This record gives sequence, structure tokens and C-alpha cells, in this order.
Amino acid sequence: MANCRGCGKLIVWTKMQSGKSMPCDPEVIRFVPGEGSEMFVTPDGLLLQGKRDPQSNIIGYISHFATCPKANGFRKG
Ligand SMILES: [Zn+2]
Repeated sequence: MANCRGCGKLIVWTKMQSGKSMPCDPEVIRFVPGEGSEMFVTPDGLLLQGKRDPQSNIIGYISHFATCPKANGFRKG
């Protein structure tokens, strides 16, 4: 765990399969991939589009880029 340099919130760094690290909100979200329009980062480093579903057994994190109020300096994607 670390703190965001922009807003000071707790973040977790997830190692992406590309080799880069992605800052994410620490809250674990259950989601169904392939539906919806939110992007989720899985613990094994994949970025998947999906829809929140508390019944799902697939978990992911929301990129902190999407939620940081000080994301101006970040590249959005
Ligand atoms: Zn932040």
C-alpha cells in the first residue's frame, strides 16, 4: 500500500502484464467482464472492461486514474 502523491488517498500498485505498475483504489470490486463500461484491473495484471456484480467471483480494482481528484497530471486511458 502507498499513498497517492496527488490526493493522498491509499492506493495499491498492481503489476500489469505489460510490466508497468498501475495505481488502483484498494477497494476490491466484484465484476463481470465483457459487459458494462467500467475498466477493472485484475490482481494478475489485466485491464478488463466490465460491469459491477456482487455475485461475481471475479475480482478487480478500479484504476486510481479514474477516481483521483488530482488526476490532471495523469495520462487518462
Ligand atoms: Zn489520487
